[in-house]
Amino acid sequence: MSHCRVSLVSLAIDIAIIGGGNAGLSLASELSRLRVAKTVCIFEPAYKIKKELHWSLWTNENQRQTLKHAIKGNWSQWKLVDYSGSVIRESSSHDYTCLSSAKYLSLCERQLSGKIRIIPKGVESVKKTSRQYIIEAGDQSFTANNVYDSRPPSVRPNSLMQHFLGVEVNIKKPMSAWQIATLMDFRVNQTRGLHFMYVLPFSSTHLLIESTMISQSLEPQNWYRNAIERWLAEREIIVESYLSEEVGVIPMDEVVPCDKTIPTIGVASGALRRSSGYGFSYIQDQAFRLAQQINQHNYDVPEPISKRIVLMDTIFNRVLTEYPEIGPSLFMKMAQALNGEQFARFMLGKATPSDWIRVVAAMPKVPFLKQLFHV
Ligand SMILES: Cc1cc2nc3c(=O)[nH]c(=O)nc-3n(C[C@H](O)[C@H](O)[C@H](O)COP(=O)(O)OP(=O)(O)OC[C@H]3O[C@@H](n4cnc5c(N)ncnc54)[C@H](O)[C@@H]3O)c2cc1C
Repeated sequence: MSHCRVSLVSLAIDIAIIGGGNAGLSLASELSRLRVAKTVCIFEPAYKIKKELHWSLWTNENQRQTLKHAIKGNWSQWKLVDYSGSVIRESSSHDYTCLSSAKYLSLCERQLSGKIRIIPKGVESVKKTSRQYIIEAGDQSFTANNVYDSRPPSVRPNSLMQHFLGVEVNIKKPMSAWQIATLMDFRVNQTRGLHFMYVLPFSSTHLLIESTMISQSLEPQNWYRNAIERWLAEREIIVESYLSEEVGVIPMDEVVPCDKTIPTIGVASGALRRSSGYGFSYIQDQAFRLAQQINQHNYDVPEPISKRIVLMDTIFNRVLTEYPEIGPSLFMKMAQALNGEQFARFMLGKATPSDWIRVVAAMPKVPFLKQLFHV
């Protein structure tokens, strides 16, 4: 049943959310949780096709309770590895948690109130008049007082990107140390740019392995596949069955929204940490705060990541772009400088001034000072 009011020419709604991915559905479920009395339509062309991706983040116990139906794996320890050794970290307050994207989106959908409707169509155009937005989707027209656009943005040429191909596999022999998530293993081919393996062991015989690059150009898909095969062969890990494959490109630079005149949410609004590619917790935080504001009749989108963090990440990325060969040591030094608690805070954008001082003190001064004057 539609909860939208029918006018002569179009359906009139209070809020239009363009895109029912992470940001769109998280915002809608927060509005439902707060019982916000607004009519909302979410426009999502891929509504029926819920892609199974892996979304990971640091979670506390309350979050794990809320997200329990979407959790695919959880680790109290994580590590970074290079040829000089490994840095293993553990936090008493935060675990590293991997969610099934499809289950997370279904969880959000189940929480939607009767005032929120999903329109399984892509938005073709949005026009702003002096008082409202006019939205065309399929053969229908809608008028909305407020619009939040989460359509995937584009990136400028030569932007830094995190790009990867991952495989989920069952392996023949149980592996040791499967209780630790490997965030970055730099013992791989570094000739094409900063490269690492990301390995999540869901059990001793069930893994996700992603060959991940941070660079300005994508590689052919077989390049990542070969890197994974090589990494497995070097460890004498034999694959029993391939379960799925996942590819992704995450912008690590300023993004360009589809339409600059419409308020954006999610990655389109810059809710991605430029130095790490993590976005999930920033998107959650933005959805939480925006829903609270809407409940108070304030429709402005909150800044997803502080300007100070964006500036620091921009300088970090400039160093990575100019000196990719020192990339592995930068991440290793950052991990060495922080204990597990501080590390989780840092990744969640909640670093204290003393956490920042530790990280900055651990970085090589000359490349950073050079890039600081270019920002
Ligand atoms: C493969 C992959 C893995 C990632 N893993 C992690 C991770 O582990 N941890 C982490 O923190 N971050 C991760 N990220 C980054 C980020 O958290 C995700 O990209 C997240 O899904 C972004 O949410 P979003 O809502 O901004 O965009 P999306 O989830 O991409 O949602 C945008 C939606 O807009 C819809 N859309 C497109 N065109 C139209 C149209 N014309 N009209 C209406 N809707 C439209 C799309 O179908 C899509 O559903 C990952 C990103 C990728 C690509």
